[in-house]
Amino acid sequence: MRWKEQLLTLTPYQPGKSIDAVKKQFNLEKIVKLASNENPFGCSPGVLEVLQTNLSGLAIYPDGYATHLREKLSEFLNVDEEELILGNGSDNIIQIISRSLLHPNASTIMATPTFSQYKHNAVIEGAVVKELPLINGEHDLEAMLAAIDEQTNVIWICSPNNPTGTYIPENNLIPFLDMVPRHILVVLDEAYYEYVVAEDYYDSIELTRKYENLIVLRTFSKIYGMAALRVGYGVANRAIIKALEPAREPFNVNSLAQLGASAAIKDQKFVEVCKEKNRQGLSQIYDFCEQNQLDYYPSQTNFILIDMKVDGDEVFQFLQEKGYIVRSGKALGFPTAVRITVGSYEQNEGVLKALSEFLKEN
Ligand SMILES: *Cc1c(COP(=O)(O)O)cnc(C)c1O
Repeated sequence: MRWKEQLLTLTPYQPGKSIDAVKKQFNLEKIVKLASNENPFGCSPGVLEVLQTNLSGLAIYPDGYATHLREKLSEFLNVDEEELILGNGSDNIIQIISRSLLHPNASTIMATPTFSQYKHNAVIEGAVVKELPLINGEHDLEAMLAAIDEQTNVIWICSPNNPTGTYIPENNLIPFLDMVPRHILVVLDEAYYEYVVAEDYYDSIELTRKYENLIVLRTFSKIYGMAALRVGYGVANRAIIKALEPAREPFNVNSLAQLGASAAIKDQKFVEVCKEKNRQGLSQIYDFCEQNQLDYYPSQTNFILIDMKVDGDEVFQFLQEKGYIVRSGKALGFPTAVRITVGSYEQNEGVLKALSEFLKEN
């Protein structure tokens, strides 16, 4: 077959290792997974309730326009319904954007290391990928501007950035947006938006009103604790949404996901509590790093990248044998680091104890 050549150079996404696989391999009873930035506190009880009481409609296709969820989201965000696009996770929206704007005669700009799916989708579309190294864990916005060429169609900004947890202060983002030509789509991926506490963070939804070439991506997978249901969304002006919509599959957000997300929005108390516990968990981890003189990036997210000054895979293996699954920094572009999702107090205590055992032995 005559496959797109670039497909043959790619490997499928490597997810964090599954709990069952590790349990079996090491014959462990209890495994704690702190590898995929999932919410250790699950989701709002309201979500579970609505799912359990709405299992009778499975023979019926979902509402392709997600009318009810769209209504709830538009009220919650204070945007028009036509300023929203819904996705099967925000991954799906990254795919829709790539499919709509990238091709072999287009170029696209992103940081490195950053979330892997921007590059992955760009490569599938055959676009020229320009990756600009982070400086001290942060986007090098000047270099990204300088990389713009005649062919540039999309610039990807991940803030807060995965895997560093760093963000772009408002005073840096605004001048950047001012300089990007209006025919280039700027994608601001805010998967961790709800965790942000920095005071010089920007109001991204407001920015979509000022910048006609900006789309903001958010998700129900992280703080809302609904990664399994797959719901993400984009916010942009009507013209962008109208152009993207035909590239969206008709039933991309399933019925249970629509119900669950609508219920999740109602329970902002749950979100607040998770945000608070996450900050406590982060300071627990910061304290450990400082006691042990380990470098880390201060995080605006529910994960932290810690430099262990040895091969990240080694730390990963050691922790795995103790029943903790984290992410080795090796595949994430930080070969001597591990990325750890902030867990519950007990989970953090456990993984930090295992980490100090590693430090003692090495
Ligand atoms: C987790 C994550 C996503 C994907 O989230 P889904 O909505 O589950 O597809 C997108 N961007 C970043 C930066 C992420 O970390």
